[in-house]
Formats: sequence, structure tokens, C-alpha cells
Amino acid sequence: MDGSIKKVAVLGSTGSVGQQALDVIRALNAKFRAIGLAGGGNLRILERQIKEFQPDMFYSSITPDFAYKGDFLSMEEIASHPDVDLVIVATSGKVGLSPTLAALKAGKTVALANKEVLVMAGEIITHTARLHKAQIQPVDSEHSAIWQCLRGEESKPQRIFLTASGGPFYHYSPAQLSEVTVEQALHHPTWKMGKKITVDSATLMNKGLEVIEAHWLFAVPLERIEILIHPQSIVHSIVEFVDGSLKAQLSFPDMRLPIQYALCYPERLSGAGLPHLDVSKIQCLKFEPVNLNKFPCLKLALSAGRQGGTYPAVLCAANEVALELFLNQRISFTDIATIVQGILEQHQNIAQPSLEEILAADAWARERVRKQKSR
Ligand code: MG
Repeated sequence: MDGSIKKVAVLGSTGSVGQQALDVIRALNAKFRAIGLAGGGNLRILERQIKEFQPDMFYSSITPDFAYKGDFLSMEEIASHPDVDLVIVATSGKVGLSPTLAALKAGKTVALANKEVLVMAGEIITHTARLHKAQIQPVDSEHSAIWQCLRGEESKPQRIFLTASGGPFYHYSPAQLSEVTVEQALHHPTWKMGKKITVDSATLMNKGLEVIEAHWLFAVPLERIEILIHPQSIVHSIVEFVDGSLKAQLSFPDMRLPIQYALCYPERLSGAGLPHLDVSKIQCLKFEPVNLNKFPCLKLALSAGRQGGTYPAVLCAANEVALELFLNQRISFTDIATIVQGILEQHQNIAQPSLEEILAADAWARERVRKQKSR
């Protein structure tokens, strides 16, 4: 990196990844400036961030109740603004899709944490990036690990092993799973993350979405991506080459590392003071194959990924609404999978969908889940 300051837009700045991205930017303030901030419903956090970072432009999904001199713009306008060098998409669910497309069309480098964007519209997103010579840099820890392992390699990987902690309920019986409370589901054993992804990690839906995400990011066929349960969350993924050599990336589980790597790429910097792993104290790293039958959400995601078309968008939409219902204590933990499965079964797939068809499938699935539940 030269001496110039990289100008960054953070979309979803008030969420978990957004706040951690600002931690990194704060620590590396000689290299980065947050010139655009976009937040969801949490105005107090957004106001505090705006006071501190003094961005040129900002956005909030609800009308701000505070005054600020910067320009109030849409997320798409911020993402494609001529002054922005890099866009961190740290929103969650469907919200990030349109701003990500806007950023890519403007040729921006996108640090993508919002995996549903690739799951819903992987073909369109990767095509748009190629067309406009825009880079997509993963922020998801497993994908950052794969990216790091593939760096400098000219050969394509033979196989990718995505690691999964297994979440808090990996060893629960089916009966125990049906009794899981919201509070339990929001307590992840190794990672500090937002609500949606924490519950998605507990159902293992998150890992299914990550398989589809890896497929698009690294152009590797789905059948060459495997899942390994690795409860310690130290090995963030493994890449296997044709000669039998394996490369893995290890670190303390801390989202600020993949965020910082995406921001600083191709450099590595030490500034943010991230915790270092003491290898001599690890003692044991465990890996085991995943039990698909225990976690129906994972099975549904893998199947939707294989079928392609509008299925992955319907999967994401149904899961997002079912997850909200679970967080509002309207349905049980195991109902999430039942609802998603029901909606997928009712869906008429469209192969090679347009963006409009993807958004229509998304809207159909959301409506369908809500209608079923209001009965
Ligand atoms: Mg991940």
C-alpha cells in the first residue's frame, strides 16, 4: 500500500461486523478513513459512530433524529460514490444485494461479509464483478482462510474443507433441539457475531450458505467442498491440491482479522493489535465429518445450492423470516427447518434467473412464510 489513505464505506456499520470494521479502521487511522457509514435501525450507535468518524455521507434505514452536516444518501449511492475506494458490505440477509451490485458496477473493491448476496445471486454478482473489473474480497472467516491459502497458487484446489464449530447444540438429541430457547441459540461457543448469523450457526444453515458462497467466490464445484466439524475454531478452513498437499490458515477466532486482511490486502499490517495464537498451547485440534441428518437446515441449503436457480434465494428468504419468528418466540428452534423445507417444496424453480426473478422469488417466499404463520 502506498502512503495514500484508502477511503472506505461501511454498509451495516451498526451491526457486529460493521462495528468491528470500524475498530480496525480506528486502529489503522493512518491508512484508512471511513467516509461513508450506513446503519440499520440502531440510531444511537450510528450517531456515536458519525460523531467519531465524521463521514462525508451517511444513511440510516429509519429517519435519523439527530442533525449532521454530511450528505444523507442511499446505500447504493454511497457504495458507488466516486470518492470511495473500498466498500465493506456488512449488512445481513437480502439488504446487501442491491448496494453490492451498485458498488461492483462502479468498479469498486467490495469486502463482502453479507454471504446471502452471493447465495441469492452468485451468478449475477460474479458476472457483474468480471464485467466491471471489480474485486470481491471475502470477509467471512472461512473464505478469508481459503483466499489466504490460495494466494500465490497457480493450480486450482482439488478440494476445499470448510470448518464449522458445530455451534452450541452439535451434540444435542432431537428432543433437546426442539426445546432450545432464543437465549441459548444466541450464545455461540467460539465466535462473537450478530444475531442472525449466530442462530444460523446453531442450525448450521450458516455452513450450508458458506458452501454456496465458496462455490461462487472460488469457482469450485459444490461437490468439491466439504464440511468438517472443528470445535476449537482455530483452523478456519483447509485447501487440498492435486499433489495431496493441504494448506490451512490458523488464528485466534476474531472477526477483526479477516476484516483487516480484506482491508489491507495485498499487505499485512499489525496495527490493530489483534490477539496472537500461542501454538505451543493449542495441544489438540479435532476434526470430524459433519452429521447431515441431525441438522436439516444444512441439508436443505446444500440441496438448494445443487439445484440452483431461484432455490437458494427462496432458502435465504424463508430462513430469514423463520429466524425472525424464532427470535420473537413465535416458533420453536426446530420449526425453522420445517418452515424452510415447506417453502422450498412449494417453490417452482426458475433456472438461470434474472435479478427481477430472484427478487420476485425472495418476495414470494417471505410472503408465503408470513401468511402461513398468521393463520
Ligand atoms: Mg463464517
